Amino acid sequence: MEETLDGARLHTAEHMFARALQEQNLTIHVRKADTYRADNVGKVYIKEIISIDSLFSAEKAVNSKILEDLTVKEEKFDNLEKAVLKNPKLRFNEERIDENGEIRIISIGEYDFSACKHLHVKKTSEIISFSIRRVSYLGGETEIDFLAGYDSIKFLLDIKNSVLTAAIENHFIPEEIGAYIKNEKYGRMEAEKEEKDLLSGLIQKSSGIIEIKGVKISKFYGEVNSIVRKNPEKCIALTNGQQIMIIKGKDCRIDLLGIGKKLKEKGFSGSVNESIINGRADENIIKELKGLWKN
Ligand SMILES: [Zn+2]
Repeated sequence: MEETLDGARLHTAEHMFARALQEQNLTIHVRKADTYRADNVGKVYIKEIISIDSLFSAEKAVNSKILEDLTVKEEKFDNLEKAVLKNPKLRFNEERIDENGEIRIISIGEYDFSACKHLHVKKTSEIISFSIRRVSYLGGETEIDFLAGYDSIKFLLDIKNSVLTAAIENHFIPEEIGAYIKNEKYGRMEAEKEEKDLLSGLIQKSSGIIEIKGVKISKFYGEVNSIVRKNPEKCIALTNGQQIMIIKGKDCRIDLLGIGKKLKEKGFSGSVNESIINGRADENIIKELKGLWKN
């Protein structure tokens, strides 16, 4: 794909977005990032589940760095060791390192240092604006579509105008806007709503591990996350027998890092941080989790 200015905006914004997520002390592994696309939509696939709050706060950080108009520079090094020595905050990804061994470091002010061979903007103000357009947790990873430049501005205006139209139709009562959007959405997804209501009911009643067979549990991520936000003392664990997903509220005392460590000892290879455990799990791991949960 040809490397255009539109692509360079998305691509440089993607460097900043990865940095902004890391600055929140999140462990992230980018499986794939695609920024030079014909439709000018950036895509990034992260192996971990990243909460919507973290994504929005990274989006905000990127936009504030765009406004600081940081200078984007490149510097060449003979090898990775020398590059790391000079840039201790260096991020690097095997795919973005040239085969001939020379390392090209892209620095964005003092904010980010990353090894990369692609085209970047020269100043962050050239990115103009950065917005997340879509987030999906299907398959247990975080897939993010994002926009930069005038596409981002246009997207934000379209959203603003549709909310404003809804506000006018609802006589500017903000609470009714939420209900309006919800009705529109659930009108189209009646079946899914029933499924999620059922799950909500289960979660409210149970303090144990909730087992739901035959469904992809990652599709409940949004629902579980919103329940935990409304009930910060709760910690919710779901399994379908092949995967586990545990999400903890901010006032809950359960030590997910400790639990994650014990699960890893049993061979669990999913992601673990202090508020989320997520990944594939076999019978033994689920059995271990049940034992830990009782205590
Ligand atoms: Zn790059």
